[in-house]
Amino acid sequence: MKQHDAMYIDGSWRPAAGSDTIEVVNPADEQVIATVPAGSAEDVDAAVRAARAALPGWAATPPEERADRLAALHGRLTERAEEIAGTITAELGSPLAFSTAVHAGVPLAVSASYAELARTHAFEEKIGNSTVLHEPVGVVGAITPWNYPLHQIVAKAAPALAAGCTMVLKPAEDTPLVAQLFAECVDEAGIPGGVFNLVTGRGPVAGQALAGHDGVDLVSFTGSTTVGRQIGALAGAAVKRVALELGGKSANVILPGADLAKAVGVGVANVMANSGQTCSAWTRMLVHEDRYAEAVELAAAAAAKYVPGERLGPLVNARQQGRVRGYIEQGIAQGARVVAGGPEPVDGPGYYVRPTVFADVTPEMTIAQEEIFGPVLTILKYQDEDDAVRIANGTVYGLAGAVWAGDDAEAAAFARRLDTGQIDINGGRFNPLAPFGGYKQSGIGRELGPHGLAEYLQTKSLQF
Ligand code: NAD
Repeated sequence: MKQHDAMYIDGSWRPAAGSDTIEVVNPADEQVIATVPAGSAEDVDAAVRAARAALPGWAATPPEERADRLAALHGRLTERAEEIAGTITAELGSPLAFSTAVHAGVPLAVSASYAELARTHAFEEKIGNSTVLHEPVGVVGAITPWNYPLHQIVAKAAPALAAGCTMVLKPAEDTPLVAQLFAECVDEAGIPGGVFNLVTGRGPVAGQALAGHDGVDLVSFTGSTTVGRQIGALAGAAVKRVALELGGKSANVILPGADLAKAVGVGVANVMANSGQTCSAWTRMLVHEDRYAEAVELAAAAAAKYVPGERLGPLVNARQQGRVRGYIEQGIAQGARVVAGGPEPVDGPGYYVRPTVFADVTPEMTIAQEEIFGPVLTILKYQDEDDAVRIANGTVYGLAGAVWAGDDAEAAAFARRLDTGQIDINGGRFNPLAPFGGYKQSGIGRELGPHGLAEYLQTKSLQF
């Protein structure tokens, strides 16, 4: 793709008001690959004004026409999928096969689903003697992280545009290039100027200006719990809508009747995918004490196959690498046993961390409570089902999880006892229409499918 030294505002690429820039680094070799503008409050204001001006026209556009434009956007993303995968590999460091299948592939499923939902959703319904209208919330401020850089953008932009909202996106500092590519696709899809606007920039500057802007009606944020809390407080003070997708510490519960080799194999793959930089990763494996030793052995062998630089990519930056190594050292200091990987550096350039598995982990340890966001699996032991439920529910988070049992009915019955937003039953399969989001401190609101669309709508009822 071509790199822009400008931001996409009101349907054209405009230079930033100031001269601050952000260097984009390839985390696999630590080389600077691009420079993008670091937007200021002034740029955010221009983008919000453009979105506000475009709102009446887009909101009044019939849903079928919005669906046509979203279908065109999906078409552009499909045609440029290879370029998208290459861009994400360059700025995030993920192996190209993973970038192609997941980073480029999943947003295609999501954009297709919203092109369809815009066409079929009941934006009007009858309830008794009332007509209920589902109208766009207004101008959306979207703030996204680097870990699934295009998916996080599409999971906000596609439902927002389907609903008739207009928006301003502030993507993560580490991965602005795929956001620029997405803006090109929006433009090529014939979506009117001002409906989607892009401001690249730093969180505490452009992000904060967007989250606190009076002209924004809904802030949709994905990222750390710390920043999510600040954004929630700002939105609360301004009485505006907010959607927060935050951290996780999800449990992978393997019940005694499960196929242990399969459950452990899929569990390890789930944690190592994207180098562990996945908010929904099953970072705690819960195994019955009778099968614990066997599970630990299987997990250590599976993790050893994630060779850094081959199947396992680097972490996104040096700060995240340092953070994750710090957690590994803390785990050792608190008495957990490393059975694969460890904190030792990987030879050569790149922000790599060894694929690490901890056994003898107890529920109160830091590595079993806090989100590590790296290729680190903890394996915990339980005595009976009640104990497993207690451990699984014993963190501040509740984003995702998995249950494995002898049959689906048994696993599903157990899953009903978990305080978490999405659970894979005996492996599960990705469903782009299923609501995704957190219980407890994992967030507020849901993304994907009709529930994700509802976040961008507000309700008006007419009584007859
Ligand atoms: P972050 O929360 O700092 O960044 C996410 C987004 O928020 C970025 O676009 C950033 O520029 C923006 N931002 C930062 N400060 C802001 C502010 N004050 N106001 C408005 N926007 C702001 O996340 P991070 O520092 O990149 O990662 C730190 C940790 O967060 C990770 O280790 C992980 O635990 C967690 N994380 C979770 C997810 C997730 O999907 N839930 C994604 C990324 C990171």
